[in-house]
Amino acid sequence: MKERLDKFLSEAGVCARSEVPYLIRTGRVFVNKKEACSKSQKIDLSIDLIEVDGKKIEEQKHIYLMMNKCKNYVCSNKDGVHETVFSLLDSSLRTAYFIEHLHLVGRLDIDTEGLLLFTTDGALTHKLISPKSECEKTYFVRLKNRVLESEQVEYIEKFASGIFIRAEANEREHFCKSAKLVWKSFDECELTISEGKYHQVKRMFLSLGNEVVYLKRISIGSLQLDPNLLLGQYRELTQDELERLIASC
Ligand code: URA
Repeated sequence: MKERLDKFLSEAGVCARSEVPYLIRTGRVFVNKKEACSKSQKIDLSIDLIEVDGKKIEEQKHIYLMMNKCKNYVCSNKDGVHETVFSLLDSSLRTAYFIEHLHLVGRLDIDTEGLLLFTTDGALTHKLISPKSECEKTYFVRLKNRVLESEQVEYIEKFASGIFIRAEANEREHFCKSAKLVWKSFDECELTISEGKYHQVKRMFLSLGNEVVYLKRISIGSLQLDPNLLLGQYRELTQDELERLIASC
């Protein structure tokens, strides 16, 4: 498959994409032993030999991590006040290459725990967060108010038929897609949704007059949070987990 030279070099960890023109201008990049002429030059890795400073550049393998997010960490690259989830990663994952390429697949609120995915694979991220894919995410929820059995049935029906959530911050009001609710006790349940609106789970319960006091994501598509991961810990996905995740979303 053909791709741009600058995209390939930055994804291979050679330099930032913005620095590629400089490398080319200074005559350090060669494609099939000929000096590269443009950052947008198309290359095909299955046939082309790419060299920088005489060294063959190989395709960088993508990385896929699952973390058990803990509270008080924010899902962003930088935050002036709170620690970010990236600060929980080993220093080997905080090099210039990973700072540029490792990103989150969707976010969790500062007070939400559970399954958080990191990857360098932009295509997978796009597939999982695209509204078209309707990838299912399941959350364990603890509520402020107990819900008796007769009312639990009403909740299930309301979630199944689509809950209306009010506008919040910069988010518009929204009529949510059908969601699946399974009760675990009078104040605990698991909710499966196929969208990812801002504060969606909390806003869904709020619109029924209840409040989420604890929230934890337990799955994304077929991928389950590893119960052996302590809060703040992470590990790479297995090949099997990755393949099944791709197939499920
Ligand atoms: N819904 C929420 O309200 N918060 C989250 O962190 C995730 C889903």
